[in-house]
Parts: sequence; structure tokens; C-alpha cells
Amino acid sequence: MSDCLFCKINEGSIPAEKLYDDNEVFAIKDINPQAPVHFLIIPKKHFSTILEVKEADHEMIGSIYSVANQLAKKSGLDQTGFRVVLNCGAEAGQSVFHIHYHLLGGRVLKWPPG
Ligand code: 5GP
Ligand code: ZN
Repeated sequence: MSDCLFCKINEGSIPAEKLYDDNEVFAIKDINPQAPVHFLIIPKKHFSTILEVKEADHEMIGSIYSVANQLAKKSGLDQTGFRVVLNCGAEAGQSVFHIHYHLLGGRVLKWPPG
């Protein structure tokens, strides 16, 4: 999508260091981290919200679990705990309408979230 922040980051027209990159998924650091570790794991295919994800996308979306595990292990979060979060829509606080999974850790995370 031409006017989408994460599509532009994926295409390289907005620079960001990719922590992970394959044909379908990439990961970057969040620009405004909410925890000592705060990464975004992002499918390259543009979905505005999780409501657009179809059965044919399930395998690719499932691969995000292995990316999250790899990044968590690299950061030592597998030893302490971490959270993987996807916000959907206004009341959940979604601000970028290209789906992304937040990987958060490095501090005690409260529950329930605010
Ligand atoms: P949401 O609120 O949609 O769940 O999450 C969007 C996230 O994207 C926020 O945590 C925000 O800090 C992050 N973000 C917004 N703009 C940029 C950017 O230009 N670069 C990076 N790396 N993260 C961004
Ligand atoms: Zn996009």
C-alpha cells in the first residue's frame, strides 16, 4: 500500500534496521519503546487489521510465532518472560493500520493491560 508506514519501511523508502527479515515477515525496534525490549513483528502483506486475515494467511501468520521465539531467545526474554500483543481497532489503541505484533519484555508487565 502506497500510503502505509510499515509498507514503506518494508520497501526501504523509510529507513529502519531490520532485526529479522524473510520473504513474508520482518521485525524492527519500536520507535517509542514501552519496555526495555519492544520489537514489532510485521507481515509484509498489508492487512489493515487482523479482521482481514484469511485462512490462506494462517501459515504465514503462524510463522510469526517462530520469529517471536527467535527474537525472545536472542534478547534473553525466554529466561524471564515476555508478552506478544496485537492491537485491533480504536479501543485497543491501534495506531498503525498495518498489522504488527508487539514483542515486549525486560520488565515486569502488569495484567490486565491498561
Ligand atoms: P499500535 O498502536 O498500532 O498497536 O502500534 C504502533 C506502534 O508503532 C507504536 O508502538 C509506535 O511507537 C510504533 N511506531 C510508529 N511509528 C513508527 C516508526 O516510524 N518506526 C518504528 N520503528 N515504530 C513506529
Ligand atoms: Zn501496509
